[in-house]
Amino acid sequence: MSKNPISATIPFDEDGAHHGFLKLPYSRDDSAWGSVMIPITVVANGHGPTALLTGGNHGDEYEGPIALQDLAASLRPDDIKGRVIILPMMNLPAFSKGLRCSPIDGNNMNRSFPGRPDGTVTQKICHYIATELVPMADIVLDFHSGGRTLDFLPFAAAHVLDNKAQERDCMAAMQAFNAPYSVRMLEIDNVGMFDTEVETQGKVFVTTELGGAGTSTARSVAIAKKGIRNLLIHAGILSGTIELSETVQLDMPDESCFVFAETAGLIEYLVDLGDVVSEGQPIARVWPSDRTGQQPETLKAKREGILTARHVPGLIKMGDFVGLVAVQL
Ligand SMILES: [Zn+2]
Repeated sequence: MSKNPISATIPFDEDGAHHGFLKLPYSRDDSAWGSVMIPITVVANGHGPTALLTGGNHGDEYEGPIALQDLAASLRPDDIKGRVIILPMMNLPAFSKGLRCSPIDGNNMNRSFPGRPDGTVTQKICHYIATELVPMADIVLDFHSGGRTLDFLPFAAAHVLDNKAQERDCMAAMQAFNAPYSVRMLEIDNVGMFDTEVETQGKVFVTTELGGAGTSTARSVAIAKKGIRNLLIHAGILSGTIELSETVQLDMPDESCFVFAETAGLIEYLVDLGDVVSEGQPIARVWPSDRTGQQPETLKAKREGILTARHVPGLIKMGDFVGLVAVQL
């Protein structure tokens, strides 16, 4: 396999705070010898664990980029023992256009791991992160939110894993993050996810869904900032006391948690995020958007639980996700 063309403009193994870029040559119409420049900060101080903190995997999710920009601008080497690698906008091409997927190659970064050194721009970024950055890390935190088409209750999540010792470590890190909700997460399709790549390399991994609807709120960003601090203390990198508030434990045991639309139209939610629903309870109706005088399609919860995620905005297409009903533990 060919060598990955990405190079870092800053060192990973020198003490201090270094701000620079991952530079990926990208020849194109408006810049024949141009590059994609992905911002990166490395803060290091002596021996200790390494945390890799990433945001902007999807370019329309904002809590991670904001909280990580704040961290990169404020974290001093004297504050830590070990190393913190900060990538607030890992999918810079998508982030710079406010899109979930890359406008350059159309790829969804979180379905493109482990990537290819000789592939598209997204595949090259994934390959560099998977082969250069993840191996340096002991713990990885990847921020997500709902983006422009989903909205979530604010939660941190860890996955059910075959390696139970690793699963325990991931769950403990999720609890340390201490979002208002903590989820044992089931993925609809985990192939190609950053999560899967990090977990396959045996690392401690935590992800989040902190809000959505294409923006962030003061509350959701505060959750992200507190979670980072708690996680770095938990990892032994930052000193201080973990700040714990009450968190609701949720589980996603199987496919019955998900509701999808089978018609297109105007969606009317009958319950809101955080509401408790029973099995068979209607959670939304889809009205025709092109005629009057017809009854809507009613969409029902397939199990009892808490409405944890929903579709945005007001129109929905056939096959779109409608609701996630997670089970309170
Ligand atoms: Zn995402």
